[in-house]
Amino acid sequence: MKNGITHLYIPGPTNVPDRVRRAMNVPMQDQRSPDMPDLTLGLFRDLKTAFRNGSGRVFMFPSSGTGTWEAAIQNTLSPGDKVLMARFGQFSGLWVEMAKRLGLDVEAVEVEWGKGVPLDAYERIIAADAAHEIRGVFVTHNETATGVTSDIAGVRRLLDAHGHPALLFVDGVSSIASIDFRQDEWGVDLAVAGSQKGFMLPAGLSFLSVSEKALAANRDNRPKMARSYFGFAEQIAMNDQGYFPYTPPTQFFHGLRVSLDMLFEEGLENVFARHHRLAEGVRRGIAGLGLKLVAAGPEWYSDTVSAITVPEGVDANQVLRIAYERYRTSFGGGLARLNGKVFRIGHLGDLNEVMCLGALAAAEIALCDAGAKIVPGAGVAAANAYYREALAKQRDDG
Ligand code: PLP
Repeated sequence: MKNGITHLYIPGPTNVPDRVRRAMNVPMQDQRSPDMPDLTLGLFRDLKTAFRNGSGRVFMFPSSGTGTWEAAIQNTLSPGDKVLMARFGQFSGLWVEMAKRLGLDVEAVEVEWGKGVPLDAYERIIAADAAHEIRGVFVTHNETATGVTSDIAGVRRLLDAHGHPALLFVDGVSSIASIDFRQDEWGVDLAVAGSQKGFMLPAGLSFLSVSEKALAANRDNRPKMARSYFGFAEQIAMNDQGYFPYTPPTQFFHGLRVSLDMLFEEGLENVFARHHRLAEGVRRGIAGLGLKLVAAGPEWYSDTVSAITVPEGVDANQVLRIAYERYRTSFGGGLARLNGKVFRIGHLGDLNEVMCLGALAAAEIALCDAGAKIVPGAGVAAANAYYREALAKQRDDG
């Protein structure tokens, strides 16, 4: 099939809106020009709004999200520091492995894949740490491998309830700018996000939004972790003037300007509501096909990605291959232990109802070709009914 467009339903990189792509198509420019701060200072300011970070600051690093995981750790912790983490999917697991490699003393709670941050286990461990040896508590807000969203506010509540001073680290790579995230209100000290998901840009830029407390930890506690490229001090000295300590990706900045404008024009609350509606339609569609999500229950459902278990006897990798080769549609694969058992529909970024109906239609046709005994059309029909009802309600509510 060579005609028409290729359909991208992976949970990042997401579709880059034409408006953003056009904004990035500009000639190279002098990154030290006197007018560069006119662009960059506004980006720093508006990123704070996107993170709902009133008092801290946001760093922009020319790396993918993984680099910014590292930046968060290196700038605030020392080798041997005790940290509390949880592994409930590929990405939360990779952050655990990174923390170990960087020399942290990691207590990693193992959680069944399909659930998220274990508040009860975290509470037990925090309550037992009367000496406040734990310096950092880590949470992956949205586990992209399993389609599970965790309760960050709940982690803040338990830290506060025990008067525990640990820094709160959050991976928001597949949540921030798509689903509700409140850095100040939830007392998040270091929040990591990437350009290629909710921010609707290509991969290659990432953001680290930090609280005053994280900045103070960087300054006063003199973290001993070796750092150079990602060092806060070097960034701050230049960023305050609107510049960078190395050659920044200026095209990205033009794209980011437009993606932030688009998010604010729609309104962040409306962006979150749209993601919820689109995700709920996909979930209804999956249920309509008689298939199950990896997420263990509604309290874990992710509004940015659904991980779907294929029926017994069907190879999820074959579904992916067929979708791509026969129907020019990309879905996300099952990662690590979910490989071959799961495919994922990314429903985040620049997306609408009909695109989600298209994703379900492509899933149905590929599943049928791969031998799944489903009723073609049942998923689309269920999502169709939900979208019509949800949009009618939205019109009525004015
Ligand atoms: N964290 C989460 C939740 C992710 O989904 C990803 C990538 O998909 C990462 C971290 C790693 O980010 P990157 O691939 O931008 O390095």
